[in-house]
Amino acid sequence: MNYDGYKSARDMSWTCFIDCGIRSLPVPLSNICKHYGYTVIKNSTLPADSEFTLSPNERGRNVVTDSNTFIIVRDTDSLPTQRYSIAHEIGHILLGHNRTENITRGDEDETERFAIDLLAPACVLWGLDLHTPEEISKACNISITSAKIRAERMKVLYARGKFLSHTLERQVYKQFEEFIKNYKK
Ligand SMILES: [Zn+2]
Repeated sequence: MNYDGYKSARDMSWTCFIDCGIRSLPVPLSNICKHYGYTVIKNSTLPADSEFTLSPNERGRNVVTDSNTFIIVRDTDSLPTQRYSIAHEIGHILLGHNRTENITRGDEDETERFAIDLLAPACVLWGLDLHTPEEISKACNISITSAKIRAERMKVLYARGKFLSHTLERQVYKQFEEFIKNYKK
């Protein structure tokens, strides 16, 4: 992923928090979907011959029509996995990938980046002083596997110590201030 892709995914996650007025963890994805008008559909409720039904290797998919945006999620997955799938699809839609014919590897990387920034925002983890995969998994309701990757990334960010240097990030942090103040580890 090039630096621009990385930045646009990160900036988009901040914009999403601000647009949707998100103030607490675990990030309420239903509020985000409601704000943007996305309807989440459980894959198990779809008839097998529906064009929306996920193929066996898919965890989620978005379908954008003229009047509606749907996110189909594999509801037999664990809740943390479903949350990741939904965050990933929100990323594809907000980053405009649904408007292109071919999703590239770079688009997927950008979307993964968005998903983890949305589910486990770095400045909030920093504000809460969370470090371990266990702490991050619990606070964000993400899988321990995703939390381990996030914890590694946080280690780098903690060492760098450059939190809140971007206007959008400062705005997000302000929204979470009350939550951070009252959070009990
Ligand atoms: Zn994808």
